[in-house]
Amino acid sequence: MFIPEVQLHEPASLDEVGEAMTDLADDARLLAGGTDLLVDLKTGRVRAGHLISLHRIGALRGVSEAKGGLRVGALTTITQLDRSRPVGERFPALREATSRMAAPQIRNAATVGGNIACAVPCADLPPILTAMKASVILWSTRGHREVALEAFFAGPRQTVRRNDEVLTAVEIPKPSPGFGAAYARFALRDGNAIAVASVAAGLWVDRGGAVREARIVLGAVAPVPKLVEAAGAELVGQAPDEDVFSRAADIARDAAEPISDVRGSADFRREIVGVLTRRALRAALRRAEEAK
Ligand SMILES: Cc1cc2nc3c(=O)[nH]c(=O)nc-3n(C[C@H](O)[C@H](O)[C@H](O)COP(=O)(O)OP(=O)(O)OC[C@H]3O[C@@H](n4cnc5c(N)ncnc54)[C@H](O)[C@@H]3O)c2cc1C
Repeated sequence: MFIPEVQLHEPASLDEVGEAMTDLADDARLLAGGTDLLVDLKTGRVRAGHLISLHRIGALRGVSEAKGGLRVGALTTITQLDRSRPVGERFPALREATSRMAAPQIRNAATVGGNIACAVPCADLPPILTAMKASVILWSTRGHREVALEAFFAGPRQTVRRNDEVLTAVEIPKPSPGFGAAYARFALRDGNAIAVASVAAGLWVDRGGAVREARIVLGAVAPVPKLVEAAGAELVGQAPDEDVFSRAADIARDAAEPISDVRGSADFRREIVGVLTRRALRAALRRAEEAK
């Protein structure tokens, strides 16, 4: 299988990217790490005559602390995010995704922006970023707009990003006192295997120990990363314990819309969602209590 002939464009600024996107319109695709796109071109899932590479645009790289939160440039690789100081020190839940996805060779090339923009249902970053209330910044020649991650995905490989928009960054808000998050994933082996199911949990706990807010987000078991609001609502106002977590896990399990494929049946995936939800909630609670 070969990649069909394509013309590569290497603009040096966002303005040049905008021009190229306007000129080439639907016949072009943005190229970041290429770990998804080049496979899709080979298999024929995606057809394009032109690739507009983002690699010369340095402003799209890097991890920085902004207003106590985190700003991650879209072109930052998964390895760079995984090894960044703020993630190591303050965002352990993110590392549960960045350290487990794919394999080192892929993580060295794959970018954060690509992992989100590809909108593949089993992608690892969207669930945990959604649980942490992250948003994406979309740039076009008309300006910027910010979209909360839970509103970004429209279906498998579909998002609300317009054809002329570049995803430039992901912003994660400052974790408030009493906040903890965790990401639990199940794959058929530890390395280089995509998630069969995953669950991210975000918990906001008040000084008295009751849950103020909770987010439970499912990955790989629905057309888009699924924020199960009813599962979060089940926890609010409660002193979190195993009974409450089990009730939330049952709601999450029932909200899953999995398919059956070579990695597991729909029933198996539903069961796994219940198990992963309890695991993610326990880990998120430990972190929330440490952060009070
Ligand atoms: C062997 C293998 C194992 C993998 N395992 C995992 C895994 O365990 N977990 C996981 O989550 N993923 C996995 N992946 C998928 C892939 O590596 C990730 O989704 C990766 O993060 C995609 O990023 P990229 O930079 O390579 O994107 P690309 O392939 O360059 O692009 C992907 C799509 O996003 C668009 N795009 C990229 N950047 C932008 C941007 N800034 N703005 C707008 N659109 C953009 C492109 O046009 C394209 O449509 C695996 C891939 C392979 C080949």
